[in-house]
Amino acid sequence: MTPNLKLYNTLSRAKETFVPIDAKNVRMYVCGPTVYDYAHIGNARPMIVFDVLFRLLRHAYGADHVKYVRNITDVDDKINARAAERGLTIRELTERTNAVFQDDVKALGCLEPDEQPRATEHIAEMLVLIDRLIARGHAYAADGHVLFSTPSMREYGALSRRPLDEMIAGARVDVASYKRDEMDFVLWKPSKDNEPGWDSPWGRGRPGWHIECSAMSWKHLGEMFDIHGGGIDLVFPHHENEIAQTRCAFGHNVMANYWMHNGFLQVEGEKMSKSAGNFVTIHDLLHTDQFGGRKWSGAALRLAMLRTHYRQPIDFTARALEEADKTLDEWAKATRNCKAAQPTDEFVAALSDDLNFAKAEAHLHVLRRADPAALLANLDLIGVKRAELLADDDGDQLPAAQVETLVNARLAARAAKNWAESDRIRDELAAQGVVLKDNKDGTTTWEMKR
Ligand code: AMP
Ligand code: ZN
Repeated sequence: MTPNLKLYNTLSRAKETFVPIDAKNVRMYVCGPTVYDYAHIGNARPMIVFDVLFRLLRHAYGADHVKYVRNITDVDDKINARAAERGLTIRELTERTNAVFQDDVKALGCLEPDEQPRATEHIAEMLVLIDRLIARGHAYAADGHVLFSTPSMREYGALSRRPLDEMIAGARVDVASYKRDEMDFVLWKPSKDNEPGWDSPWGRGRPGWHIECSAMSWKHLGEMFDIHGGGIDLVFPHHENEIAQTRCAFGHNVMANYWMHNGFLQVEGEKMSKSAGNFVTIHDLLHTDQFGGRKWSGAALRLAMLRTHYRQPIDFTARALEEADKTLDEWAKATRNCKAAQPTDEFVAALSDDLNFAKAEAHLHVLRRADPAALLANLDLIGVKRAELLADDDGDQLPAAQVETLVNARLAARAAKNWAESDRIRDELAAQGVVLKDNKDGTTTWEMKR
C-alpha cells in the first residue's frame, strides 16, 4: 500500500502529496541546535514536531527505509563569545552543551536521528562546495572572505518570496566593502589568532553558517533529498542560502523537494527573552520548579506542544502543561494493563494530513474507552511511551520504568529456563506490591496492588 501522506511545502505554499525520491531511502534533514547554551522550549518544538514526522515516515515506509539527519552547529560566533566569557575552550563548551541537549531531547521522547553531524567535522566538505561554487562562477574571493554571488542565481529568493527591497534591507545588517552586491553572503571568513580557524586556499578562516548545512546534508543525504525542516525563522536567510549553495554547486534545480517549517513559540503571551524574564530552558522545565512552580515530565511537554498545529504560533503556558498532564494520567489509567496492538488507520490518516494532531487526538479520546490497546499503540507511534505515562502517575511507588525492566528481565530468565532467577524477580516485585500475571501468549502483565 502506498502511504498517503500530505505535507505543507513552504516552497509552493501548498499542501502536497508526499512522493519520496526513493521509497526505500526516504531522507530528511533538520537544522539542529547551535550548542552555546541550554536549549529553550522554543528549540524543543522542531525537535518534537520532526520527531513525530520521522516516526510517521518510519511507520509508512519501514524503519530501515528512512534516514533522518539533524546537525549540531558547533562553530559560531556566539560559541566563541560564550566560551571566552566562561573561560572554557570551544570544545569544552560545545561538548557540555551538547550532552545536556542530548539528555533533553531524550527526555522529550525523541528518537535519536540516524546521524547528528557536527559542523567542525565537515570542514573538508565545506571547502569542496566553496571551491565548486567559485569554479562555476557563483562565488568569489575578496579580502580573505569568500562570498556567494546572489545575482549569479536567477531564482535566488524563490523560497522566501521576499520582495527584493526587503532582502536587501535584511542583508544590509552586514554591509561590507568586499561585497559586490548587497545581498551576497559569506561562505568563508578569516579568523583572528584567538578564533577557531582552519587552513584554506583563502587563508586561515572559518565557515559561514549556511554552508555548514549544505555540506552536512550533502555528505549524509546526497545532492538532492526529500524533506528539509526547521523553524519558520530559518526560511530567510538560512534556508534560502542553503538552497542557493547546494543547487549552484551541483547544478540541480532542487535541493530538497519539501521544505517544512514550524511556527514560533512564545511564553505566556510574550516573546521569550532573557530580558523579559520568561526564558525557559528544557532543562529547567524538566528538573526545576521554575515554570509553573513544579517539575514537568517530558511527555507533558511533548503533548502540550503537539496540541497546537505545528505551523501555528504557540502561546506556551503552565496551564497547557497542567492539562496535558491530566490527559496523560487518564491515558495511563486506561492503558495500565494493556499490551499495545496496532496503530489505528484513523490515527495514522489524521497525522498523515500534514500532522493534524487535533484530529488524531480526538480519536485517541474515543479509543480510551473503546480500545485501550489501540490507544497504547497510537501513543507509541507518536513517542508517548507507556513507561513515561505510568511514571507520571505513580507517586511514591516503584517507578514503572523500573517495573518494566524487571518484568523483561524475568521474561528473559524464563526464556533461558532459569526458574530460580525468574522466581526471585517475581518475589522482589511482590515485595513492592507489584502483582504479575503470565498470559497464555507468553506475555506478562502487571498491576500495582498498593
Ligand atoms: P538555534 O539553536 O537558534 O539555531 O535554533 C534551533 C532550532 O530551533 C531552529 O530550527 C529554530 O528555527 C528553532 N527555534 C528557535 N527559537 C524558536 C521558537 N521560539 N519557537 C520555535 N522554534 C524555534
Ligand atoms: Zn541549517
